[in-house]
Amino acid sequence: MSNAFVSHKQVHNVILPGSTIGILGGGQLGRMVAIAGRRMGYRFVTLDPTPDSPAGQVSDRQIVAAYSDLDAARELAACSDVITYEFENVDARVAALLEQESYVPQGSRLLRTTQHRVREKQAVQASGAEVAPYVPVRSRCDFDAAIRALNCPCVLKTSSGGYDGKGQWLVHNAEDAEKIWPEVEKAAASQDNDADEPLIAEQFVPFSKELSVIVARSARGEVQSFPVAENIHRDHILHMSILPARISESTARSAQRLAERIAEGLKVVGLLAVEMFLTEDGRLYVNELAPRPHNSGHYTDDACTVSQFEQHLRAVCNLPLARAELTTPVLMINVLGEHMAPLLQAMTHMDARIKVHLYGKHEARSKRKMGHLNVLGSLEEALAAVRELSVWPPESLSVSE
Ligand code: AMP
Repeated sequence: MSNAFVSHKQVHNVILPGSTIGILGGGQLGRMVAIAGRRMGYRFVTLDPTPDSPAGQVSDRQIVAAYSDLDAARELAACSDVITYEFENVDARVAALLEQESYVPQGSRLLRTTQHRVREKQAVQASGAEVAPYVPVRSRCDFDAAIRALNCPCVLKTSSGGYDGKGQWLVHNAEDAEKIWPEVEKAAASQDNDADEPLIAEQFVPFSKELSVIVARSARGEVQSFPVAENIHRDHILHMSILPARISESTARSAQRLAERIAEGLKVVGLLAVEMFLTEDGRLYVNELAPRPHNSGHYTDDACTVSQFEQHLRAVCNLPLARAELTTPVLMINVLGEHMAPLLQAMTHMDARIKVHLYGKHEARSKRKMGHLNVLGSLEEALAAVRELSVWPPESLSVSE
């Protein structure tokens, strides 16, 4: 922000409270970053096309415009001392403009890496971590060769733009391949990227658990990882995170070290969420990276010595990072559109150990992430408390070892 106070707000490259933080994206992740930051005394401007967006509601100001609108991006740059983003599909031209006209400590290199699954896997491997064997796919002929190389079952994914299971096909056999190809071709063609490897085939990993570690690295190079979350997905959407994860201490330590190594290798500034598969024989395979706060880190708001949102701001603003330790066992459960009406009913008799987070979205569409609960207590206690709410079908609340 070009005003006379700027010099007081930046000491030794530290962005101090009083400064204005611009957030590209107005969703729930931006909202929770802004809530954490306002408590610390930062001001916020959000850019999002939907008026009264989740982050816009808790910001000082929202610029209502498309994410790819260069004039709007210029306006965001002009009124922000520092800029962060809350999603990874940032338009390359907008990223370049923001870097030129403002301060974007996260940079755009990491975005380029995580926007494309092949580049992402190469970066993970370069930092010494394992990924499932994979083959880039450009054509039907490549796909057939990939199936021969990887064997079935395998998973075919679009290289970019996929989320919550979209742009992803499980292939059991050659007949499956034949059947899905027209749909795959269409999805591949509709991707908005410059890469010549539009698809990737991966070996199916018979995992025993899905884990994630969120790690923060600050502009001054400090690194802190959060406790390991054990994640349970339903219909490809995160359903619950269990903390602490039901894994050995040595596996937990290995998962954290692996995430820290990747963050250091990629010179991350801000947060990096590292999703991984754990197999029966104790191996860890990195599945996906996200350079931002992550749904599996929402538990940190109520059950950790620092939240992922505050840590993100500390990293981006170059403040010292906080040690991230679990203060209580916790179960995080996502509230989707179909859960909203019964949840609101249940709030009239809800135990105070259930911490409710709702994102202020206007329309409760089915499968849309509307909020989450952090339920404090042991897994058994938390599941019993959630069952009593009668919001989720009982079968979705049974958790196998
Ligand atoms: P992704 O979009 O890559 O995060 O994948 C979404 C979900 O699909 C993961 O959380 C897994 O449950 C499943 N999945 C993706 N890739 C694989 C794989 N190679 N092996 C087994 N399951 C997978």
